[in-house]
This record gives sequence, C-alpha cells and structure tokens, in this order.
Amino acid sequence: MLKRQQVLAHWTPRQIQQIRDLVSFQARVDTIKALMPLPHVESVARQFYLSSADSVPPRGAKAPVSTLILKTYAPRTSKLALNFMYNQFDDLQKAGFTFADSVLYVYKSYMQDHHHLAANSPTPFVKFEHFYSIASHLVTKNAVLQRCSTCGSRNFFLRNPSRYVSSCISCESIAAVSRAAPVVRTA
Ligand SMILES: [Zn+2]
Repeated sequence: MLKRQQVLAHWTPRQIQQIRDLVSFQARVDTIKALMPLPHVESVARQFYLSSADSVPPRGAKAPVSTLILKTYAPRTSKLALNFMYNQFDDLQKAGFTFADSVLYVYKSYMQDHHHLAANSPTPFVKFEHFYSIASHLVTKNAVLQRCSTCGSRNFFLRNPSRYVSSCISCESIAAVSRAAPVVRTA
C-alpha cells in the first residue's frame, strides 16, 4: 500500500492545497475525485478528513438541482448570492480557467467573505456541494445565465423543469427596497 507521503511527492503544492480546501469545504470524496482526477486522490482525501475536525466525509443522497434552485435557494437573498457566484464562475470559464479552478476560486472567495461577514455563523449559507452541482448545470448547458433586458445583470436560468419562471433578481430586489423605503414628503 502506498504511503501518503509517497503519493503527495508526485503532486504540486497547489494540487495538495486544492484538496485540503475541498476537505475544508466538506466536499464528498466522489466530488473531490471528479474535480481532481489524480491517482489515489480518494485515499488521500479520506486521510485529510481523518486529520481534520470533520473526520468523516459527507455522505447521503444528493439533492436534485431543480430542488436546490426551486426550493433551497428560492429566497431572494439566496438567489442573489448564487447569481453573484455564477457570474464570477462564468467570467472565469470564459477567461479560460478550468472548471475545477473556477469552482474552487469562486467558492474560496465566498468562504473568505462569509467568515469575514458572519464570524458567529459557522455554517456557510451556500453549501459547496450545492454550488458544485449547480455549476455543473451551467457547463452542460442545462442552465444558462440570461441577461435582463431592463438592468443588464445576468440571472441564473434553469432550462428544466420548464415551469420555472425566470425573473430578474436584481430588478426584484430594487423594487422590494423601493417598496420598503419610507415615503419622503416635501412641503
Ligand atoms: Zn434586471
């Protein structure tokens, strides 16, 4: 059986850091293998889990992307967070970054902001596995970023199920803020 040090000797420090990042994001071992297809990556990921606070990689069934979009991330603040992340992700993809690098970069930035903004909340709002599943939909064209004809921002749009009605979250948010703003009367 190969020792961890023998395996790691063939990887770059950046690859090792990316696997450590994925473990800290609570990525499944299958997901780590898909993003970082290196020999023995599963056993190394499991060992990294063993030496971290979360000693067991997450298991259980994955939620379908339609459920994530239509239910889990349906509230406005969730949609805004996701839209922002997918715009960043799409920009990186168009700039020629790999899928794995784009997913990792965007989620790492999100986590840094999350820790910065919500020191009292240990659980990130957007889960890595959810972000990864939905990002895969953009790559396979099961979802697209549609530009709003009113404000020009890009919105995540799921092609299936067709009952999903696309609306612009930026326009909705501006409208909600306008409704909530106190009416200023001028004499
Ligand atoms: Zn808009």
